[in-house]
Amino acid sequence: MNVASQRAGWSSLPFRAAAFVVLTCVTIIGICGWREWTAREAVLKGAETEMANVARSLTQHAEDSLDLLDAGILGVVNRLEMDGAGLATVAKLRTLMEARKTAMPRIHSLAVIDDQGNALTSPGELNAMLSDDAFFRHHQVSQKREPYLGRTVLSLLDGEWVVTLSRRFNKPDGSFGGVVLATISSRYLSHFYQQFEIGRNGTVVLMHGDGAIIARDPDNERFVGRSLGDMPLFRDAGLQQPSGAYHFKSPLDGADRVGFFRRSNRYPLVLLATVDKEELFAIWRKAAAFRTLFAFTLVMLIAVIGAVLVRQLLRGQRMAAALVEKEAHFRLLAEGSSDMVTRIGLDERLRYVSPSSIRVIGWRASQLMGSPALAGINPDDRPQVQAIIDAVKRGEREEARVTYRNAHRENTEIWLESSVRVTRRDNGDIDGVVAISRDITEQKELETRLETLAIEDGLTGLANRRRFDERLREEWARAYRDRSSLGLLMIDVDHFKAYNDEYGHPAGDACLRKVAAIIAAETQRTGDLAARYGGEEFAMLLPNTDAAGCERIGERVRKSIREAGLAHAASPSGHVTASIGGAACRPARERTAGTGSLVEAADRALYAAKEAGRDCLVMSGEVARLLQRASGL
Ligand code: GH3
Ligand code: MG
Ligand code: MG
Repeated sequence: MNVASQRAGWSSLPFRAAAFVVLTCVTIIGICGWREWTAREAVLKGAETEMANVARSLTQHAEDSLDLLDAGILGVVNRLEMDGAGLATVAKLRTLMEARKTAMPRIHSLAVIDDQGNALTSPGELNAMLSDDAFFRHHQVSQKREPYLGRTVLSLLDGEWVVTLSRRFNKPDGSFGGVVLATISSRYLSHFYQQFEIGRNGTVVLMHGDGAIIARDPDNERFVGRSLGDMPLFRDAGLQQPSGAYHFKSPLDGADRVGFFRRSNRYPLVLLATVDKEELFAIWRKAAAFRTLFAFTLVMLIAVIGAVLVRQLLRGQRMAAALVEKEAHFRLLAEGSSDMVTRIGLDERLRYVSPSSIRVIGWRASQLMGSPALAGINPDDRPQVQAIIDAVKRGEREEARVTYRNAHRENTEIWLESSVRVTRRDNGDIDGVVAISRDITEQKELETRLETLAIEDGLTGLANRRRFDERLREEWARAYRDRSSLGLLMIDVDHFKAYNDEYGHPAGDACLRKVAAIIAAETQRTGDLAARYGGEEFAMLLPNTDAAGCERIGERVRKSIREAGLAHAASPSGHVTASIGGAACRPARERTAGTGSLVEAADRALYAAKEAGRDCLVMSGEVARLLQRASGL
C-alpha cells in the first residue's frame, strides 16, 4: 500500500466511524471517571469539613473546661497568698473546693499541696495521690505564675487517668509556698466525645502538645497516656500550623484515616478528629461501582455496535472497490476487443455496447444504447436467437453460441457469431446477458465455397464422383424403403482420346463442359443427379425410374449430345457423340446385390454400347443379346 492510498484509508468513512466510536467510548469513560473522582473529592471535602467542625468545638470544649478549672485554681491561689496556708484557711478552702467539685462534674479533683508535697486539702502525700509529680517539680523551680498543664497521670486514689492543671502559690516572702492542683478525668472527656456521631470507626483524640494522649474515643483506656509524638503531625514542619486536614495511617489501629487537627492557642493541646477512609468511601464506592458497571456496559455496547458497523462499512467499501475494479476490467476487455461486446438487460434492450460496434455492424455504441437487442436480426434467424436468449434468461443455460444473419448499417447482410452468457447479481439472481459478437461473413462464405468444392466437379460444375457415390447410397436406401425403382445411366464420350489428339487438351476440356451442360439440361426432375464419373465419363442417377423411363431419358441425352453438333473430325460421324449404358432395378428385390451391382450393370451396358458401334444406348437387359450378336453366336 503506498502513502497516497494509506492517506485515503485514514480519511475513509470506516476509519472515521471507528474514530467516532472510540472517541465516544473514551469520552464516556472520561466523563464517568471525572465524575467519580469529583464525587470522591466531594466526600473527602465533606468529611474534612465535618471533622474541622468537630475539632473546633471539641478544642473549644477542652479550653473551656481548663478555663473553668483555672478560674477555681486562681481563686484558691489568691486566698492562700492573702490569708496564708494556715489550718483555718485550708479548712475553709477544703469546704469551698468540695462544693465546687460537686457543682462541676468535669472536675475530677481539686487539691492544695504545700511546698513539701503534702496534700493540705486531702489526706496523704502527693506521691500517694498521683503517679507522677512533674507539675510539682515544675512549680518548685519555675517562678512563673501561669497555669501549667501537666501530662496525663494516673490517679492513685481511684485509678483514673487524669490531666492536671496547676498554679504555684507563694509565701508572703515570695518563696515557693506550694501548688494548687485541679484535674479532669480522661474518661470524662472520652465520654463527652462519645456524644458526637462521627461514624462507626471515627475517632477523636485530645493530645498534649508533645503527642501524649489525654483522651481518646473510642478505646480510651487502651491508649490514654501513650505518646503519638512520632506522628508527622508533630514532626513535619508543614503541619505545625494551628489547624488543617490530616491524612494518615493510624499507628494505633493501622486504619487509613482522614482527619482534621486543631491546636489550642491557649493551652498546649492538639485535638484530632478523624474518620476511617474505608468507611468514608464505602457508600461512594458501592455507588461508583454500580455507575461504573453501567457505564462500562454502555461503552461495551457502543463498542460492539460500532465494531459491527465499522465491519459492515469496511465490507461495503471493499465490495464497492471490487465492483469498480470488475467494471474497469470489463470495460478494458470490452473496449479493447475487436469483437462487439453487448450487455442485454432482462427487457432485452442494450445496456452497454462496446465501441467496436461501429466496425462490426456500422452503428455507433451511443446510437445502439437502449435499443432492442434483437432488432437487426434476419427474421428467419430471429426465432432461433430468441429461443437461446430466453433459455439463458430463464437460467436453463449458462452460455450458448449462435450464428445468424444481421443487418449492417450499409444495407448489407452480415453473418454474426455470438457467444452469450448469463450475468448474475451478487445474490445469484439473473440480471441479464452478455453477448460477444463477431463478424463471420467471410468465414461463412469460405465455408460455403469449401462445401461446394467438396461435392462439385471443378471442370464441369456437375456433382463429383464423391457426391455421386454418396447420393447413390442414399437413393438406393430410399428406393429400398419405398420399394421403388432406381435407374442409372453411364455416359461415355466416343473417341475422346482422338478428340484430344485432334484439338488439344484445353479444347477437350471445353468440349467436356459442353457435354456436361447438355447432360445437366436433361436432368429435369429434382431428385435426378448428373455427375462426372471420371475422365470423359458421366453418370445420371434417376430415382423412382424404371428401365423404360431410364431408356427414354438415356435416348434423349444421346440425341441431345449428337444434335448439339460439336465438331469431331477424328470421329467417323464427324460429331461428338456418346455411348450410354443404362440399368434400373428395385433394390428391395435384389436380395444380395448392392449399389455396386447397379453400377456394374450400367457399365456392362455401356461396354456393350461401345461394342455395338458407339453413339447408341444399351439397357442392361439387352446386354447378353447384344454381346451374343456381336460375337456372332
Ligand atoms: P472410346 O470411344 O472407346 O470411349 O474411346 P476413347 O478414346 O474415348 O476412350 P479412352 O478411354 O481410351 O480414352 C479416354 C480419353 O479421354 C483419354 C483422355 O485423353 C481423355 N480424357 C479423360 N479425361 C479428360 C479430361 O478431363 N480432359 C480432356 N481434355 N481429356 C480427357
Ligand atoms: Mg472412357
Ligand atoms: Mg470414350
